[in-house]
Amino acid sequence: MSGLFVELKTPHSGKYMQPTGLFINNEFVKGVDGKTFEVINPSTEKVITSVHEATEKDVDIAVSAARKAFDGPWRKETPENRGKLLVKLADLFEKNLDLLAAVESLDNGKAISMAKADIGMCVGCLRYYGGWADKITGKVIDTTPDTFNYIRKEPVGVCGQIIPWNFPLLMWAWKIGPAVACGNTVVLKMAEQTPLGGLVAAQLIKEAGFPPGVVNVISGFGKIAGAALTSHIDVDKVAFTGSTVVGRTVLRAAASSNLKKVTLELGGKSPNIVFEDADIDNAISWVNFGIFFNSGQCCCAGSRIYVQEGIYDKFVQRFKERALKNVVGDPFARDTFQGPLVSQVQFDRVMSYIKAGKDAGAKVEIGGKRKGEKGYFIEPTIFSNVSEEMSIMQEEIFGPVCSISKFKTKDEVIAVANKSNYGLAAAVHTKNLNTAIDVSNALRTGTVWVNTYNTLHHQMPFGGYKESGIGRELGEAALDNYLQTKSVTIRLGNALFV
Ligand code: ADP
Repeated sequence: MSGLFVELKTPHSGKYMQPTGLFINNEFVKGVDGKTFEVINPSTEKVITSVHEATEKDVDIAVSAARKAFDGPWRKETPENRGKLLVKLADLFEKNLDLLAAVESLDNGKAISMAKADIGMCVGCLRYYGGWADKITGKVIDTTPDTFNYIRKEPVGVCGQIIPWNFPLLMWAWKIGPAVACGNTVVLKMAEQTPLGGLVAAQLIKEAGFPPGVVNVISGFGKIAGAALTSHIDVDKVAFTGSTVVGRTVLRAAASSNLKKVTLELGGKSPNIVFEDADIDNAISWVNFGIFFNSGQCCCAGSRIYVQEGIYDKFVQRFKERALKNVVGDPFARDTFQGPLVSQVQFDRVMSYIKAGKDAGAKVEIGGKRKGEKGYFIEPTIFSNVSEEMSIMQEEIFGPVCSISKFKTKDEVIAVANKSNYGLAAAVHTKNLNTAIDVSNALRTGTVWVNTYNTLHHQMPFGGYKESGIGRELGEAALDNYLQTKSVTIRLGNALFV
């Protein structure tokens, strides 16, 4: 391919021009090495298009664009104007919601109704951080009478941001919103499986009026462009969302280069706990949504389901009936709830976990198979008769697969829920307020939902305990990731130090 745009079509948006270049300094450019890679439609397994690939040299170019912007016009921009730009960007996302959602469904395979909800959340997130830009303040500290001391909050500098393929545009907004609100500049790498939406959105950066170099968006592979960003000597901070395995690599790269600041949002194996006194209809609907939303490709997916013994049999029966009603198929069909998995690799990974569950003696209550002949579709799968040491109970599957088991007491379920290296999210279903609060306080996870699941909001921090990550995204907490704290002490009067 030679051009920087290609005409594509989706059933939802009709024809549109898809950028394929690297977005650096507010322009689309080709990669220095002239490499491209194919983007596959997960519903059909056909090639959608090819995009330009960033290699180390392109990462260098993007980082120097971000550095120049940081040291130049962006440094001088007022917080008020930074906020206005982000709000404008949010407005443009809202205006282009249908197109952005359609590109996301095409590229990732998620149901169009879910993709629209994602873009709605992008709008909320960008607007929220636009609001923060001129509310970031320091402090005056009284220490001694002969000094005046203040603490100033400053941007960290050039931020490398690496995002995954499960929520490409939402992760784009979660990363860019707080970074830019705090006055940083950005080089963001899209996941190689899903580069399309982020490039369409990059056009909106320019349209909103951001100066060149403030936000740069590149496509490329983790081991090449991702690794170059994490070990780059002129990148001040890396924010990464992805697997725990790669998270460790990112931390090592930061440690062995310039000790750049690192925040990580990693995997999970989240417990979803249903007590006997729960509203069973409500619990079933959120347990179903908790695991099968986005084809189970969520870091916070409620994949370990614990149900109290008195309602266990009834719950399993009704949960199966509910899950069998989930419409799996073409992401652009109006009633579809679950699309395909994102790629062949992910499909194979999930099928191998299903095999491991069967081999270990777990019982397949429903699902366990591929759906159809084409596309990476997998049936909603529920395992029972599981034990804690099975790989399907320990490891993140990242697909429409869950395990359900029985518990007797509150203390027993708290212990087993916390017996995981992960600590991203959890949920409790009960009508008893004491149970809800006791269990929420005892769970070692960054988020707990009560009588709901996957209910994320841009005002509420999100992130993990234990091996689920470092730092928090969203809410005021995300600003900490993107600010340095500077202490300034001014000597007053003429007292000499002797
Ligand atoms: P998954 O295994 O689900 O594909 P990854 O954690 O591998 O998730 O990918 C998430 C993001 O991390 C992607 O943008 C990917 O390109 C990037 N990535 C993968 N490997 C590395 C690496 N060694 N260094 C930096 N980024 C990487």
